[in-house]
Amino acid sequence: MVKNKKIPLSTPHMSTEGYEKQFVEEAFNSNWIAPLGPMVDAFEQEIIQYTSSKFAVALSSGTAAIHLSLKAIGIKEGDIVFCQSLTFSATANPIMYEKAIPVFIDSDEETWNMSPKYLEEAFKKYPKVKAVIVVHLYGIPANLDKISLLCKQYNVPLIEDAAESLGSKYKGKHTGTFGKFGILSFNGNKIITTSGGGMVISEDKEAIEKMRFWATQARDKARHYQHSEIGYNYRMSNVSAAIGRGQLKVLDQRVKRRREIFSLYKKGFSNNPSIKLMPAFSYDSFSNCWLTSITINDPIKVVPLIEYLELFNIETRPLWKPMHLQPFYENYDFVGNKTSDNLFNHGLCLPSDSKLLNEDIEYVIKKVNLFF
Ligand SMILES: *Cc1c(COP(=O)(O)O)cnc(C)c1O
Repeated sequence: MVKNKKIPLSTPHMSTEGYEKQFVEEAFNSNWIAPLGPMVDAFEQEIIQYTSSKFAVALSSGTAAIHLSLKAIGIKEGDIVFCQSLTFSATANPIMYEKAIPVFIDSDEETWNMSPKYLEEAFKKYPKVKAVIVVHLYGIPANLDKISLLCKQYNVPLIEDAAESLGSKYKGKHTGTFGKFGILSFNGNKIITTSGGGMVISEDKEAIEKMRFWATQARDKARHYQHSEIGYNYRMSNVSAAIGRGQLKVLDQRVKRRREIFSLYKKGFSNNPSIKLMPAFSYDSFSNCWLTSITINDPIKVVPLIEYLELFNIETRPLWKPMHLQPFYENYDFVGNKTSDNLFNHGLCLPSDSKLLNEDIEYVIKKVNLFF
C-alpha cells in the first residue's frame, strides 16, 4: 500500500546507471581523497559547459559561494547589501559574516522573487548600496531583465543565488549567468547533490581565481606558509565532486521529472478554487520546478493542512519565512509592502522528490483535495 510509504519533499536521487559510484571509485583508485583534485577540476568544467558560463570555482557549500562572492565585490564592514527577503537564511547570513548591513527587498506576485519596483525604491533610498542578491526560489527565475537593468543603471553588482534553480532558464539563458556572480548549491535536498557543496560561476576570471585563493587558506606564493590575507577552508572535496559529475549526467532527467510533477499537481488542483500554484510557467522563463509550491486562499488552513498530511506520512513545509520577519534580522530595513509576508502566510511546498511515482503524487493530490 502507498499509504505507509513516506512521501518526502526532496531527497538525494542517484542515477540508476551508477555513474556516481563509478566516478567515486575512480577517485578512490587514484587516491585523490582530498579537497581539490582532478574530479573537482572536471566538475567545474562540466558545470561551465552545462550553464554556458566562463569560469567556476567549486566550494564546500552554497553559503561559502555567497560569502566569497561578497568578498570578491569588496563588501566591508558597514556596507549596504540589498537581499531578497523571501529566501533561506543562507542567502543573507554571509552579509553578516562581513559585518555589512542587509536591506531586505520584498517579492512580487508574478515571480515570488525580488520585486523590481521595490528594488528601484531601495536604490533611491540607499544610493550607496554595494551589492544586490537576488534569489530564484523553488527554481522560478526572478525578473532578470528588469533587475539586471536596474543594477546596471545604478552600477551595482548583482549576485544571483541560483542554489535552487540549477537547470532553470530565463529567456533561454541559464539562471546564475546574468549577474556578476551566480552561486549554486549541491546540498542533499537540491535537484542534484554532491552530498554537500557549492559553486560560483562568473565571467570574471580574476575574481574566480581570487576566490580559489581565499578558499584554500589564502596561501601566498612562497615556499613557507605565508599569508597576507585571511583565508578559509572552503574547497570542495574530490570525492564530492565525483558524485557531482555522476549527478550532472542525469540533471536534465531530474529537471524533466520535477516539471512533470508540477504538471500533475497543476492538473490535480485545477478544480480546487482554494489552491493556486507557484508561477513556474507563467512568464518568459523555464523553471526546474525544484519544489512545487502552492498558496491557499485561507491562511488559517496552512498549518492544519500540513498536520493533516503528516498523518498520511506526506511531508510538506511552509514557504521560507521572510528575513525581515526573522528575530535575528528584525532591526534591519525592509523595502516593500506585504507580498512576501502574504506568500509566507498562505504558502506550502509539496513533495517534489524526483523518485516519486505518479501514483504517489496522485495520492497527495487526493489527500489535499479531501482536506478542503
Ligand atoms: C540551499 C540554499 C542555500 C545554501 O546552500 P548550502 O549549499 O546549503 O550552503 C542558499 N540559498 C538558497 C536559496 C538555498 O536554497
